[in-house]
Amino acid sequence: MSMVGTDSHLVTPGEAMEKLLANQVALVTGASSGIGYGVAKALADAGAAVVVNYHSHAEAAEQLVSEIETAGGAAFAVQADVSDPAQVEKMFAACRARFESVDIVVANSGLQKDSAFADMTLDDWQQVLATNLTGQFLTAQAAVKEFRRRGPRPASKALGKIICMSSVHEVIPWAGHVNYAASKGGVQMFMKSLAQEVAPERIRVNSIAPGAIRTPINKDAWDTDAALEKLLKLIPYRRVGESEDIGKAAVWLASDESDYVVGTTLFVDGGMTLYPGFDDNG
Ligand code: NAD
Repeated sequence: MSMVGTDSHLVTPGEAMEKLLANQVALVTGASSGIGYGVAKALADAGAAVVVNYHSHAEAAEQLVSEIETAGGAAFAVQADVSDPAQVEKMFAACRARFESVDIVVANSGLQKDSAFADMTLDDWQQVLATNLTGQFLTAQAAVKEFRRRGPRPASKALGKIICMSSVHEVIPWAGHVNYAASKGGVQMFMKSLAQEVAPERIRVNSIAPGAIRTPINKDAWDTDAALEKLLKLIPYRRVGESEDIGKAAVWLASDESDYVVGTTLFVDGGMTLYPGFDDNG
């Protein structure tokens, strides 16, 4: 490998470049598993200090914190239910206390409570909307207030960045999951309307819409050969996504590399939204 520098201080070309998210702080909700875990790890690898929010798995969150610290990064874990305004406020207060402010907020927490429509309980409907949509509202609102409070800082061209974790089901209807699809359809218009409102302040709001990513939320869809075969028919690229795929997209959307990207949904889905049912002449 070619080196630059003097004999006493040789640095690789990679080291000579500052990390993309150096001197920034990221908060990721629902980061104790799956996509949130992968996103938090990727943001930390890109140089951000990371606030690891978890709902109920403290050990997994602490494990992620220690992985980030072992790799030379900074992180801490904070418990909060994103559907509860007081807990969201406490989470941002903890973030300010430890890292002064936050630059990147990833509203990732989500859940499914699936059932046929006529059997769906009001509780299943409300729980999914409370976490997947109201949780994004509360998290993003606290983020906007925090960005305004602290004002611009040199590490980022934008005043702040918000990334909403949506889903291909913001556009693909999903029988048996009307609560989940309604929540993600809601995220689409929530994100765009908020992006339009706060863009003049240089706050960038965007979404990532994952396709099928191998995480606990959809284990039934990939953990047997039969299920996997059925799932792969829906994915033109013919592989299930990994949390790292979403992590890489999040790093780009959070960085100045995407500074002119405002109010868009980045689909990271192996082509799932390309109407794969029409791949053989319909
Ligand atoms: P996951 O179950 O591993 O992660 C969801 C996380 O959200 C968990 O850590 C959970 O503890 C947390 N959470 C749930 N309720 C919460 C609450 N009230 N407050 C705080 N945190 C809470 O599943 P995942 O696949 O990693 O899902 C992450 C996000 O990605 C979700 O918004 C999901 O809808 C979205 N998504 C996932 C896929 C996929 O294929 N895995 C596809 C599209 C979208």
